[in-house]
Amino acid sequence: MRAVVYQGPNEIEVQQVDDPRIEDPTDVIVRITTTAICGSDLHMYEGRTAAEPGIVFGHENLGVVEEVGPGVATVNQGDRVVMPFNVACGFCKNCRGGNPAFCLTVNPPGAGGAYGYVGMGPYRGGQAEYLRVPFADYNCVQLPPGEEHEQDFAMLADIFATGYHATQLADVRPGETVAVYGAGPVGLMAAYSAIIRGAAPVYVVDKVPDRLRLAERIGAVPIDYSKGDAVEQIKDRNGGQTDKGIDAVGYQATVAEGEEQPALVLNNVVDTVRPTGTLGVVGLYLTSDPGAPDENAAQGRLLFDIGKFFEKGLRMGTGQANSRMYSDFLRDLIIQGKAEPSFVVSKEVPLDQAADAYARFDRREEGYSKVVLKP
Ligand code: NAD
Ligand code: ZN
Repeated sequence: MRAVVYQGPNEIEVQQVDDPRIEDPTDVIVRITTTAICGSDLHMYEGRTAAEPGIVFGHENLGVVEEVGPGVATVNQGDRVVMPFNVACGFCKNCRGGNPAFCLTVNPPGAGGAYGYVGMGPYRGGQAEYLRVPFADYNCVQLPPGEEHEQDFAMLADIFATGYHATQLADVRPGETVAVYGAGPVGLMAAYSAIIRGAAPVYVVDKVPDRLRLAERIGAVPIDYSKGDAVEQIKDRNGGQTDKGIDAVGYQATVAEGEEQPALVLNNVVDTVRPTGTLGVVGLYLTSDPGAPDENAAQGRLLFDIGKFFEKGLRMGTGQANSRMYSDFLRDLIIQGKAEPSFVVSKEVPLDQAADAYARFDRREEGYSKVVLKP
């Protein structure tokens, strides 16, 4: 089959690789119909990680079940399914406790597995014609047959669920004011989720014009940090600080901008939120980053302003999104016409054009805010 294969920094190629096969009785093989490129893929693409050439990317996958292992109970050939990006078992202590991103069964135990991601287990990615899905009864989310809402449902694999998770971590409630840092796909989905949860106003901070326009389109208030300190701009408009804050930038995206020292966006979020407010952090802070400006940064040891955080009595939730926890009801919101997360998708291209799409998405070119590939 054809697949997106990492060649080295800033280079991917669509190549022939072996077809996946059923390895465990609880596996299914899915024929991929839509697979999205994620900001997280860029950490590997840009060569900032330990990803080795040869890895097949792709953790935002949707398709039709082609083959079913003998131990699968609820998934059938021909089912249309989307796979949350975490690979999880569904039965360990963490999965049963609602934290499948920290599944204790899959590799690596407790750190969560994912498709096509360095350090997150041996699971091959789905930017390809076919994908093996382990523990299929848990990891396949059933969709209505046909092709309706294809792009909307594809967003359930990661960014819609991750955006929603950010609002869950931040405990966003109706009527609250929320500041979201980062208007990438994840930040936009966090803002969208906050609005779905009844928050208002929701501020979205970035400096990329078409991303800020999208924020405005969904009813959020765009804040351009290239035009002045974001914390002050939000204070001016809000008459003070916000109830809740979300970091959808992480440390990597900041470094990618080529700054000398990592400007820790999280400190801005701390400054933006009122005393006793809550922070949701979904932007990545990794403990191993060869591209970081110095050794401390490379270890994830960054200058977090714990003093201010403590004095304000703030709370904070972090980590990989427990995407499977939200799949069913977010899917149902889409089916009922109450959510349309495909508003972030700006391009749909054949899998064979993946190299060009990666390069443009990486340069944050106008019109490439979220790209889906069609195998
Ligand atoms: P992205 O790179 O497309 O978006 C990041 C945005 O942040 C960009 O638009 C950039 O202009 C903006 N930005 C940079 N510096 C900023 C600053 N100082 N203030 C405000 N905005 C700033 O990435 P994305 O796909 O939206 O993902 C965002 C982050 O979430 C990444 O770190 C990604 O790895 C992470 N992520 C985490 C999970 C999870 O499970 N926790 C899942 C998916 C993605
Ligand atoms: Zn993703």
